[in-house]
Amino acid sequence: MAWVEFPFPECPACFRSWSSSRHRDCPAGGERLLEIDPDAAEVRCASCRSAWGVGSTRFFCACGRRFEATEVDAALREIIRVASLLTEMLVERARDLAEIRRAGEVSFLAWADGFARRLAGSLGALAGRVVGGLLRELDET
Ligand SMILES: [Zn+2]
Ligand SMILES: [Zn+2]
Repeated sequence: MAWVEFPFPECPACFRSWSSSRHRDCPAGGERLLEIDPDAAEVRCASCRSAWGVGSTRFFCACGRRFEATEVDAALREIIRVASLLTEMLVERARDLAEIRRAGEVSFLAWADGFARRLAGSLGALAGRVVGGLLRELDET
């Protein structure tokens, strides 16, 4: 349905996490961020356009620790759950979004900010990025 930015899950060694991930050794340079389709549980690289299942993702942390998707299964399920819930909510508001966009970038950002703040906890943290991802998606269609 919609591709949204794929956050880097908490590293089992250093416990850090990031709001986005990049494709390691990307043949296209990996300038653009990794994205996730929560419905298909698929990850894709926006640079080289390759795609793979979330479950077969291998993570390389900045601390040097390398880990498999199975080691962070719970975190990945939470990412998928939140991303899926948010895209659903945003698709329901697609008409509002279209109108706000016509009104300009500033009012859109204000709306996205308010939207993110109305959501609690992890939902709120992901919301802004999901809004951005969905917006790009709408631009492409
Ligand atoms: Zn680490
Ligand atoms: Zn790539």
